[in-house]
Amino acid sequence: MTATTPMTATPIDGKAFAAHLRARIATEVAAMKARGITPGLAVVLVGEDPASQVYVRSKGRMTREVGMNSWEHRLPTDAPQADLLALIDRLNADPSVNGILVQLPLPRHMDESAVINAIDPAKDVDGFHILNVGRLATGQKAMVPCTPLGCLMLLRDRLGDLGGKNALVIGRSNIVGKPMAQLLLRDSATVTVAHSRTTNLPELCRQADIVVAAVGRAQFVKGDWIKPGATVIDVGINRTDGGLVGDVDFDSAAHVAGAITPVPGGVGPMTIACLLANTLTATARANGLPDPEGLTP
Ligand code: NAD
Repeated sequence: MTATTPMTATPIDGKAFAAHLRARIATEVAAMKARGITPGLAVVLVGEDPASQVYVRSKGRMTREVGMNSWEHRLPTDAPQADLLALIDRLNADPSVNGILVQLPLPRHMDESAVINAIDPAKDVDGFHILNVGRLATGQKAMVPCTPLGCLMLLRDRLGDLGGKNALVIGRSNIVGKPMAQLLLRDSATVTVAHSRTTNLPELCRQADIVVAAVGRAQFVKGDWIKPGATVIDVGINRTDGGLVGDVDFDSAAHVAGAITPVPGGVGPMTIACLLANTLTATARANGLPDPEGLTP
C-alpha cells in the first residue's frame, strides 16, 4: 500500500460515542436522584501498580462526572487476602454501593477467582463473576464485561443487525475474547475465535465481515488480512516508542476496511462508559426498576 492510496475506512469514533453515552447516563442518574436513588460505585485497588492507579483515578472522576457516588478503597500490596475479602463483604452488605470493581491484576499471593467470586453478582459491574459468565453464556440477564459490551455497541451502531455476519475474535481471554464471542453469538453472528495456537489466522481474517482484535501485540493484524469493507474493532493497547498503538496495523488496514476503530480514541473510552452503564443497570435492578434502554445486550 503506498502513502498516496486514499484511506477508505470510516473511522469509528469511540471517544464521541462514549461521550454521548456518558451524557445519556448522566440524564438517567439525575432522574434516579429525583426519586431519591443515587447510584454508587466502589473501586478497590490493591497495591501501587502505576497503570492501575491511573485507571482507578479516571474511573472515579468519570463516575462523579455523571453524578454517581464514587468510593475508592486502597489496600497495601502485602495485604492478606482475608482483608480484601472482608472489605468485599462490607461493600456487598452496603445498600448505597450498587457496583463493586476490584482493579486487576491483583498481587501474586491473591487468588483472583476467589476474590472476584466473593463479589455479590448483582454488584459485579465488571461481569467477571462466574455466575455472570454463566448467565451470559446461557442467554440470561447478566452483568456483561465492559470492554466487549462497548465493542458490541460500536458494532451495532455501525452495522445494525449482526445476524449471519462472519465475525472473527482474535484472543480468548476471560476479560475480552470469550465474552466478546458470546455477545456476537447472542446477536446471531457466525463466530470464530482465534488464539495463540491458531495456524491460519490471515486466511480466517480474510473471510471475516467483523474482526475484533484482542491480542496484546502491537500492529499484529495486517491490512492484507482484512476483507475489503470489513468492520475492524481494535481492542489492543500497546505502548511503543512511537506512542500508543493497537493490535491492528491501522495504516494498512484503513485502506481496506469499511470502518475501523483508532487507538487511542476507539474502544478505550467505551470501556469506562460501559462501566458506568453497568453501574446504572445494577442500580435499576437493585431498586426493582426496568433496565435502562440500550445499555444491556
Ligand atoms: P490476554 O493477554 O489475556 O489475551 C491475549 C490473547 O491473545 C490470548 O487469548 C492469546 O491466545 C491470544 N494470542 C496471543 N498471541 C496470538 C497469536 N499469535 N495469534 C492469535 N492469538 C494470539 O489479553 P487481554 O486482556 O484479552 O487484552 C488484549 C489486548 O487488549 C491488550 O492489548 C490489552 O491491553 C487490551 N485491552 C484493552 C482494553 C480497553 O479498554 N481498550 C481492555 C482490556 C484489554
